[in-house]
Amino acid sequence: EIEGLERIDNDIWQVPMGYKSGMRVPGRIYLSDKLFANLEKEAVDQVANVATLPGIQKFSMAMPDAHVGYGFPIGGVAAFDAEEGVISPGGVGFDINCGVRLIRSNLDKSDVDGKVNDLLDSLFKAVPSGVGSKSRIRASESELEAIFTNGSRWAVEQGYGVEADLTHCEGEGCIEGGDPAQVSAKARKRGRPQLGTLGSGNHFLELQYVDEIYDPVAAEAFNLKQGQLTFMVHCGSRGAGHQVCTDHLRNLTRAVEKYKIDLPDKQLACAPAQSEEAQAYFGAMASAANYAWTNRQIIMHHCREVFEQQMNMDADELGLDLVYDVAHNVAKLEEHNVNGGKKQVYVHRKGATRAFPAGHHEVPKAYRDVGQPVLIPGSMGTPSYVLCGKQSAMDVSFGSACHGAGRVMSRSGAKHTFRGEQIQKDLSGQGISVRAAHPSVIAEEAPGVYKSSSEVVDVVDRLGIAGKVAKLMPVGVVKG
Ligand code: 5GP
Ligand code: MN
Ligand code: MN
Repeated sequence: EIEGLERIDNDIWQVPMGYKSGMRVPGRIYLSDKLFANLEKEAVDQVANVATLPGIQKFSMAMPDAHVGYGFPIGGVAAFDAEEGVISPGGVGFDINCGVRLIRSNLDKSDVDGKVNDLLDSLFKAVPSGVGSKSRIRASESELEAIFTNGSRWAVEQGYGVEADLTHCEGEGCIEGGDPAQVSAKARKRGRPQLGTLGSGNHFLELQYVDEIYDPVAAEAFNLKQGQLTFMVHCGSRGAGHQVCTDHLRNLTRAVEKYKIDLPDKQLACAPAQSEEAQAYFGAMASAANYAWTNRQIIMHHCREVFEQQMNMDADELGLDLVYDVAHNVAKLEEHNVNGGKKQVYVHRKGATRAFPAGHHEVPKAYRDVGQPVLIPGSMGTPSYVLCGKQSAMDVSFGSACHGAGRVMSRSGAKHTFRGEQIQKDLSGQGISVRAAHPSVIAEEAPGVYKSSSEVVDVVDRLGIAGKVAKLMPVGVVKG
């Protein structure tokens, strides 16, 4: 029981204006009764804190996978008026444009019988992983500039992929307004040797298969079918994005005093959206987001090469086409309907996925009739889901859905509760092979540290935010 919360409808909890002084809008938490049992009071407090920020529109929101984060909850969504509102790095997170991409194939699950271990070993080699892992690629200063400005297009121009990869990516792999001049020398230095690397812990490469189709029309548009082998990549902007966040948090903490913004928590550091400080952060954030898309593009390219070698098939035979790529830690300037009028807002999605519906001009043409693919990973032992954005998302959550199952146990708690070797054995018994640089990573990422992905996904499905299209089950996982 969390005092002050009101259940206003099935799956909708309201944080009323009286929950905390200074709230400008109510909070909305989208949760089933069952998930409510895992809701942390501190996460509710964070939803209320965000509701005090200048220019916030409609509601301060949290998705069913919500848990406590830096300032804003993970699973948090907040939209701020582009003129009167603010921009805040805490609403984006440290791993700027952490995100997920899904690749389909012409293969059936049975085509990799007996080959999964070799595939995983080769993927593990082709994509460096672990804290501070380094790449074969060293970007030059001018290449970094191009990446920060143009995103994935740079990678495709260099031969890491094909044009269709861009059209099947959120924003075509680029946020406009990337401003390399706002990215510090330190952030560049961290970013230079890390293109094409996975990072640590929660990031992964996963071989999966389509276990169930819920929406045959959308599945056909996404080119997915029962029994098909799929491949998922989860990673972000590595050290470059982390450094951008750190640098600009420092800057915006000073701005809070300069602009006399009253904050309930200093982790909510922010500045008026049109101020020099906020725009500098936005330019740097967009650059880091563009770096992340380039990173996932290069990783996908290296993985395609592994499949070609290991399966002894060419690219056309394999059909490893990008279904979609979503950012789940990002702020974007978007137009939304607010109180009957159109409005420009900075939508902050921190551990939340964009979920635009059918007909929206930002949805790729191939998917325009069904809505944007929404990619929701589960865990290395539980289902991941593909959904498609639905019209209600525009009213309920500024076109946003959950981003995963969400943690229920901390990393340190997990290391006390689980043993990596045992988890690996258990998963192997279920037909899931796991590779990780260290067994402790497997303990920290055990399926039991996450909520039920099915339970979380059912909430956004019932609310009409995004509809279930397909269920994906893991076969083999490379953990960062
Ligand atoms: P985050 O970006 O918050 O670190 O993670 C997003 C989501 O990925 C988590 O909430 C969790 O549900 C999911 N996840 C974490 N590890 C794995 C994994 O190894 N495989 C899959 N399919 N999902 C995972
Ligand atoms: Mn990340
Ligand atoms: Mn992530």
